[in-house]
Amino acid sequence: MSYDTNNIFARILRGEIPCHKVYEDEHTLAFMDVMPQADGHTLVIPKMPSRNLLDADPKALGALMASVQTVANAVQQAFGAEGILVQQFNEPAAGQTVFHLHFHILPRSTGVGLRPHTGKMADHALLAEHAAKIRAALEG
Ligand code: 5GP
Repeated sequence: MSYDTNNIFARILRGEIPCHKVYEDEHTLAFMDVMPQADGHTLVIPKMPSRNLLDADPKALGALMASVQTVANAVQQAFGAEGILVQQFNEPAAGQTVFHLHFHILPRSTGVGLRPHTGKMADHALLAEHAAKIRAALEG
């Protein structure tokens, strides 16, 4: 399986497609999922191209996991979540639909279910509001 340089997240990284950015550093980018399974559903991706975890350069994973932790803490704080679910899918059989490595950060609270994976496109004003809440938590 090869890496398609025109996948949607590669295009977001190149600035060809907009996103609601919450965090960026030298190695990683985090932004709101456009079809959130929960309010605050955020994606964290490496800037280095890889299709998924299976072909990723292990040297990129340390910085990526550090960003996953940073963003997970900010999402938990911003949404007052009781817990955080981190998900990552590899290949279509496992549920992967976008072929650039990414981690899902999902706020969870008791009794609150998740919406379907790749379900409904969210309102952009709401995503912008959620991204601002997470950025504020990161800054605070
Ligand atoms: P996967 O199934 O590959 O783990 O998840 C891909 C995720 O990317 C899905 O949750 C989907 O909602 C999200 N997604 C798909 N297209 C876009 C897009 O253009 N922008 C953003 N921000 N998220 C996207």
